[in-house]
Amino acid sequence: MNQKKERRFHTRVIHAAQSPEDWQGATLPPIFQTASHRHITADDLSQTFSGKKTDHIYMRLTNPTNRILEEKMTALESGLGAVVMSSGMAAITNACMALLRAGDEFVAGNSLFMSTYILFANVFKKYDITARLVESTDLEAMEKAINPKTRFLYLETIGNPKMDIPDLAAAAEMAHRHGLPLLVDSTLATPYLCRPLELGADVVIHSTTKYLSGHGDAVGGVVIDGGSFDWSQKRFPDFMPFIERKGPLAYLDKVWREHHINFGTTQAPWHSYLTMIGLDTLALRMERHMENTIQVARYLRARPEVLWVNYPGLEDHPSHDMARNLFKEKGFGGMLTFGLKDQDACFKLIDSLRLIYHLANLGDCKTLVIHPYSSQYVAFDEPTREKLSITPDMIRLSVGIEAQEDICEDLGQALDSL
Ligand SMILES: *Cc1c(COP(=O)(O)O)cnc(C)c1O
Repeated sequence: MNQKKERRFHTRVIHAAQSPEDWQGATLPPIFQTASHRHITADDLSQTFSGKKTDHIYMRLTNPTNRILEEKMTALESGLGAVVMSSGMAAITNACMALLRAGDEFVAGNSLFMSTYILFANVFKKYDITARLVESTDLEAMEKAINPKTRFLYLETIGNPKMDIPDLAAAAEMAHRHGLPLLVDSTLATPYLCRPLELGADVVIHSTTKYLSGHGDAVGGVVIDGGSFDWSQKRFPDFMPFIERKGPLAYLDKVWREHHINFGTTQAPWHSYLTMIGLDTLALRMERHMENTIQVARYLRARPEVLWVNYPGLEDHPSHDMARNLFKEKGFGGMLTFGLKDQDACFKLIDSLRLIYHLANLGDCKTLVIHPYSSQYVAFDEPTREKLSITPDMIRLSVGIEAQEDICEDLGQALDSL
């Protein structure tokens, strides 16, 4: 394991958790499509249920194919353990719920994926849980929102679709000063660009649906525990049995034992398999996504119909310097937003595209476009949309890995039609 860890990311992304010697020589992970696992003796199953043995019991609890992806993600994020789940939202829900009781609070950057925003701002409210939402890049506001009821801090590495990038290292330091863990949704960055646990964060969450699988095929999520947070502090009295059982993996055990298996957020092994095939090419894809995105950003900026372009790779972007620093000059992600005259112009552009797909997803190898104001955010009230910078003139583009000239030509012919 240690030897593998020292290899470069491009190698690790392919070889981490590979074990052909256990797979009859197969170079791809086997798919264990089985709801349950047989146990020879009554004592066997009893020992497994009581945690003395780690055999598989039932797919809702664990599955050998899912376990391989868990080991892979643990290695790629420099974590101590991981649990894969049925979607990114399942991962976010379980990661948060494991920390929350009725009456608790947490502080989150408000630049959030749409469903995460609804979960935090509306759904949790029903259970007397308060999310204090502040500007993602305003650490001071974040610190001010902390009080004795706060249980964790939550950020996205690259805000979606605001494209703002918080200082994760400083946020982790601040959280720890208050005895709080930092949870990070790093879906848009992927471990290729940034490994939040290495920057001091305590938990990383991904929607594997996006860049990790890379092909828009398998919905999935994962929670990765860094294993370094001290849960024995007074603020977390409910962690005691989990610390006794699992030591440094107390949090992951709580996520798994209390929530994942009882909420039933099981990942299908077939999805884990597809995700692992996709992962093999993550590094290459990310390089190409980012090469293309900066070129597309420059192309759009040069077009008179485009009134603004929001991409951290552009030198005058407010998060440009932070991105250079956090992502160590590797790039700025594969997503951007841009502005046209109004909503009509956005609709006309989308309707004129021939190559680029119009759909609700991102991180696919194909270039994807959406008008967030009239789609994902259509049910949001106007003040909230304004706060989240969801404006009627905004188009979101997830730049794929096609030939960059063809992406620009398609955008160009659609802009010509305005
Ligand atoms: C898509 C997405 C999610 C939700 O993931 P699903 O797999 O669709 O449930 C969460 N966070 C971010 C940043 C996303 O882009």
